[in-house]
Amino acid sequence: SRQWQLVRRPVGWPVEEDFRFVTVELPDLSEGDVRVSNEFVSVDPYMRGRMNDVKSYTPPYALGQTMVGGAVGRVIESRSAAHAVGDLVQHFQGWRDVAQGPGAQFRKVAEIPGISSSAYLSAVGMTSLTAWVGLLVIAEMRPGDTVFVSGAAGAVGSAAGQIARLRGAARVIGSAGSDEKVALLTERYGFDAAFNYRNGHIARQLQAAAPDGIDVYFDNVGGEHLEAAIFAFKDGGRAALCGAISGYNAETAEPGPRNLSMITSKGLTLRGFTIGNYQQHAADFAAEIAPKVASGEIVYDETVVDGIENALEAFFGLMRGENTGKMVVRTA
Ligand code: NDP
Repeated sequence: SRQWQLVRRPVGWPVEEDFRFVTVELPDLSEGDVRVSNEFVSVDPYMRGRMNDVKSYTPPYALGQTMVGGAVGRVIESRSAAHAVGDLVQHFQGWRDVAQGPGAQFRKVAEIPGISSSAYLSAVGMTSLTAWVGLLVIAEMRPGDTVFVSGAAGAVGSAAGQIARLRGAARVIGSAGSDEKVALLTERYGFDAAFNYRNGHIARQLQAAAPDGIDVYFDNVGGEHLEAAIFAFKDGGRAALCGAISGYNAETAEPGPRNLSMITSKGLTLRGFTIGNYQQHAADFAAEIAPKVASGEIVYDETVVDGIENALEAFFGLMRGENTGKMVVRTA
């Protein structure tokens, strides 16, 4: 099995020397084990946090161990009564082309006709569930709300914008880091307005896109975006703090928003969450969203990087914004 391991903790932006690509001889299967040939491996922003030796909602990656994370593949050998050769399964063994272990670590996927196996990592998987929970459970979006989504052309953001529209938002505004992505937001994902955060002052661009203010902010970015949203909030506004990618590679902590006093004066609610604690919503999410993905009512994009040997480059590309929709590595 070919695998990526973390060998040194990155300081600031990760570099190639922080990792190594190895070939591991796999032992024969024990009773109850399965062997899986991965089709797609996920690279995700949260992985940057796990590279630090800091306790977070997921434990830090151990040095010299293979980078774990979401993946989807097919069973190629089975000594588990619950798994047959050919089954599509999801697991968390991460950046490797072949995974194996006790059957309980490999969850069978209920395949939806017409959906690529990669979508179980994105449009009908973890990132879309994050969008659904953040918007509806954490920010309690209601019909008629004006909603702002940052990181809007990414996996979570593109889902959040479309779910907001489907659930009756009055106006959905998105921000992203290139003019091409901004065009996609309005032309493909159904946002009412969008702006490129690199093209000027974020608070001013948001004010122009939402002159009457916003009710809900879905935050993927943090930093200056969060400060701009606090300025733009109407009284009683709600934010789901999903991620803060603008600071993930910073060597020193970013200063917080300078307008926190507006949380008091406007009666705002800013609420963080991590999706691992909200799996009880997975069934409701799937019942609502999977049919809409299958029918094409919800669209999604993926940026596919070929070859497990390129997983690290895919991760770097994600941090640089080279992806539209979900960044995945195709291993098959
Ligand atoms: P994305 O598909 O959104 O990919 C990351 C994107 O971040 C890039 O494409 C890039 O887009 C953008 N980005 C990178 N640097 C910056 C920056 N300095 N300022 C603004 N945008 C930047 O990833 P995901 O959809 O998987 O994740 C989105 C967010 O959601 C992340 O913050 C992640 O940590 C969080 N998350 C949280 C979860 C939870 O449980 N709370 C679960 C899953 C994700 P651009 O070109 O627009 O800059």
